[in-house]
Amino acid sequence: MIEIHAIDGINCPILICDVCGERIQDASKAAIVFDNFQPNGSRVKALSVHKGNIDGKTCHHEAELIIASGGGRAGWEELKAALTDLSSNVGFPASEMAKYDANRKRSAE
Ligand SMILES: [Zn+2]
Repeated sequence: MIEIHAIDGINCPILICDVCGERIQDASKAAIVFDNFQPNGSRVKALSVHKGNIDGKTCHHEAELIIASGGGRAGWEELKAALTDLSSNVGFPASEMAKYDANRKRSAE
């Protein structure tokens, strides 16, 4: 889930693991897990988690168990791929994001 953390007077969006509650700081070590194989038009919530058994965490596996406990069949996607797809799905593809970020940094100088 996304939380806003106040850090040095700035409101910072932070991604929190839906299993352990700790901050996800490295997109290459994270995934989204969801109830897979749904009929067309279905909507399911995705869990943002630390991936695999990286850094001793088992959040990914635990998320799959949570979905299985509700009778679902877990699927997952790398967080980097999910963020790329999400940015496109909100009309803000990664290529535009890079331009926006560069302009924002120039404005802050
Ligand atoms: Zn975690």
